[in-house]
Amino acid sequence: MFQHIEAFAGDPILTLNEQFAADPRADKINLSIGVYLNDEQRIPLMGAVAAAEVRLAQSINPHPYLPMAGLPAYREQSRRLVFGEGQGERIATIQTLGGSGALKVGADFLKAWFPQARVWVSDPTWDNHKGIFGGAGFEVGTYPYYSPATHGVAFDAMLAALRALPAGDIIVLHACCHNPTGADLSQQQWRELALVVQERDLLPFFDIAYQGFGEGIVEDAFAIRYFAEQNIPLLVASSYSKNFAIYGERCGALHVTGKDADEAQKIFGQLQSAVRKNYSSPPAYGGRVIATVLEDQQLRAQWEAELTAMRVRMKQIRSELYAQLKAQLPGGDFEYLRIQQGMFSFTGLPVAQIRKLRDAHGVYLIESGRVCLAALSSAGVAPVARAVVQVMTE
Ligand code: PMP
Repeated sequence: MFQHIEAFAGDPILTLNEQFAADPRADKINLSIGVYLNDEQRIPLMGAVAAAEVRLAQSINPHPYLPMAGLPAYREQSRRLVFGEGQGERIATIQTLGGSGALKVGADFLKAWFPQARVWVSDPTWDNHKGIFGGAGFEVGTYPYYSPATHGVAFDAMLAALRALPAGDIIVLHACCHNPTGADLSQQQWRELALVVQERDLLPFFDIAYQGFGEGIVEDAFAIRYFAEQNIPLLVASSYSKNFAIYGERCGALHVTGKDADEAQKIFGQLQSAVRKNYSSPPAYGGRVIATVLEDQQLRAQWEAELTAMRVRMKQIRSELYAQLKAQLPGGDFEYLRIQQGMFSFTGLPVAQIRKLRDAHGVYLIESGRVCLAALSSAGVAPVARAVVQVMTE
């Protein structure tokens, strides 16, 4: 029966992680992963999350199904975190299985109601964008995004490509901390992009998986809030995996803005229909933890302070690594570490040097040249800087 089934090629990042785990060197360093580690090289358990878990554990409850759309308090808090106060009646929000679940339900909803549209993702992007939108039946293309010369966004090329799209096409945008490049649009560029989206009647689908990792909770949501204020219809997939360090509980949300409360209600119904056909209703535990933190003034303040500390740590690692690289190789171009935002940067190192980093120095990066700075400890900065300079000068 199953003879024709082909082996799954696997995920290059996971394969590299297996190779890392099997590497016997004690001083090996893994910068290929996509999670935030604290300076002790562990996924943190945030104090606000732990406190909410203790609170929840104190009352023993049965385990009913959640509604298809998830917990009402979670939905409300999630909408406010992304959009701020106001406009709530015209936004349909559902709880989802992480940011991935939000993208998948959003993709199914769009395929049902915009079957002719094509989807455009940045070049490069998080690999699974292509998988999820392709899996929902869309033709997926790319628009220019990254400029190796400036380590920033190739904004003119991006705008030119988007201007050429037919009305109704869907563009996936990283709201902040672009994965994999760390290169983000400035506020002025977001404003210009909003004009093009309006002129061309495009449908933006924002992906915000790192809110609070760039400049702050409010700052990182700038683009979404600005587009919503311009009354541009849009979708948002938001994830709590990173900013609550709650990866395995699969917490995210999907938001869709309608023109008014009536339209939002219809959209809300169709989102529930898409959920029903996927997994019926979301898991409850992580949703309860997050709603508890966000609804409680004290826990929320604690969470915000802990999130700020994570952001500050990532920025410190960036500037320490920059300083050490620049000191050892003054002619080298390491500006990318200071320009780019969030967990990731694009080093631009050629594949041969990335392999040498791994084989000769035990420093693991994926071959695209993406480095996860959120996985580097302060103790790891000096050996990584030494290794990078060595492979660049050999
Ligand atoms: N979008 C982007 C850009 C991501 O980097 C990730 C996670 N790596 C996701 C979505 C998915 O988030 P989650 O793990 O919450 O499904």
